[in-house]
Amino acid sequence: MHKDLISQLETIEKEARKLEMTPDEKEAWTRMITNSGLEMTSRMSNLPAFTASETEVRSLVINENGHTIEAIMSTLEKEVIQPGLNPASGGHMGYIPGGGLYMSALGDYMADITNKYAGIYFAAPGAVAMENMLIEWLVNVFGYPSDATGYLASGGSMANLSAIVTARDAMGINSTNITTHVIYGSAHMHHCLNKAIRIAGLSECPYRNIPLDTHHRMDTRALKSQMELDIHNGLQPFLLIGSAGTTDTGAIDPLHEMANLADDYQCWFHVDAAYGGFFILLPDQKEKFKGIERSHSLVTDPHKGMFLPYGTGVLLVRDGQALRNSHYYMANYMQDAHAHAEETSPADLSPELTKHWRGLRMWLPLMHHGLSPFRACLKEKLLLTQYFREKATLIPHLELGPAPDLSVTYYRYAGSPGSQCDADNLWLTEEIRKDGRVFVSSSKIDGKVCIRLAVLSFRTTQQTIDTLIDILTRKCAELDGMYQQTP
Ligand SMILES: *Cc1c(COP(=O)(O)O)cnc(C)c1O
Repeated sequence: MHKDLISQLETIEKEARKLEMTPDEKEAWTRMITNSGLEMTSRMSNLPAFTASETEVRSLVINENGHTIEAIMSTLEKEVIQPGLNPASGGHMGYIPGGGLYMSALGDYMADITNKYAGIYFAAPGAVAMENMLIEWLVNVFGYPSDATGYLASGGSMANLSAIVTARDAMGINSTNITTHVIYGSAHMHHCLNKAIRIAGLSECPYRNIPLDTHHRMDTRALKSQMELDIHNGLQPFLLIGSAGTTDTGAIDPLHEMANLADDYQCWFHVDAAYGGFFILLPDQKEKFKGIERSHSLVTDPHKGMFLPYGTGVLLVRDGQALRNSHYYMANYMQDAHAHAEETSPADLSPELTKHWRGLRMWLPLMHHGLSPFRACLKEKLLLTQYFREKATLIPHLELGPAPDLSVTYYRYAGSPGSQCDADNLWLTEEIRKDGRVFVSSSKIDGKVCIRLAVLSFRTTQQTIDTLIDILTRKCAELDGMYQQTP
């Protein structure tokens, strides 16, 4: 043994052990972080939904010996967490709101402390069985057969990408036939699917944008004629993409009729239910989703409809073997792991090998709260959307979009002369943001600028909607006043 080696180890040991932290240090930090978290969640309903402020996070540089707990926490709270959108606030009613259940945060804490290897059954039988149990529950919720499978992804975009890749392989699309196999989507399909098509190497497939009806749902008569025309021209329908809750208007496509057409023309039917999927948990909403159980693959986002913090999406595939065929790979150094195959491992069904144990952040709130509060919250979001529409019709010159299928609806100020309308609605959106108590986002629907309302945060209540109505009433009156004064 080299003396030199031992003395080197002795010299650096003290420094290296610092990463383990002393019990006092751990306790101080844990107290600091949890106090900050508890304080934030207790004030969440009064915190602004949007804060336009400067960020100077780079003032705290990466150095050799670190910084004080006070300096770090101050930078984190004031310069990192505060500026911009506050997605955990109930006032977030733009895009598709998030939420962030406290129980999930505790789940993440345990997942990180134990660092269970949730990709492989052999390494973490409990963690993998937990994730598989959640998938089995969802397979049942969406009415898929019991041999369907899936996995917990990091979000809807990644889950959609995996679905498109699975469809590509299952339908045998390759360099010899790609230009004759058609993909059908719509203008309100989420753009992550356009991205997925490109990433999956399917840009050369002919792509058809199927028109929407007056409720912004896919027009299945137009779809049928397009499919027939394509077949007549020697092409083959390959992939039909439907939405169960579009981002723009919350519309659910006629899934049952689309499933019929997919059957008739032997094409893969994928449903993107990232936003709307969990509304299927409400018995009085189930009918709207009729046909989703006949799709070949579907995506839903627990970090939307189950109010989890960001980082959890779900992919389900009816033919479990098809998902496995596209994602399974055997490596020599993994041979020990594969000898124990009592349960399916996420690594065999997804692109990820090492992954976050994201099942715990979904399992823990489900186990603690049970389903009932989730159903109540989802129902509440639908009722609040209706409540908003009833109040908004009383505001002069505020025009509402069609009655929505779920909890996204749109409106616009329509009292402006001529071409001024789009600019006024952008101004209105900006004014709501400046107020800061609530956050909404605008979009362009049928070529016109509209403001959206998306109710999905578990923290959004009647009071939140009243705040928005109050701002809208005042700002619309301001616009009205301006136009009365300038003839
Ligand atoms: C949010 C959303 C997506 C994308 O999911 P991410 O979780 O943001 O990656 C896809 N489709 C729809 C309908 C969505 O609302």
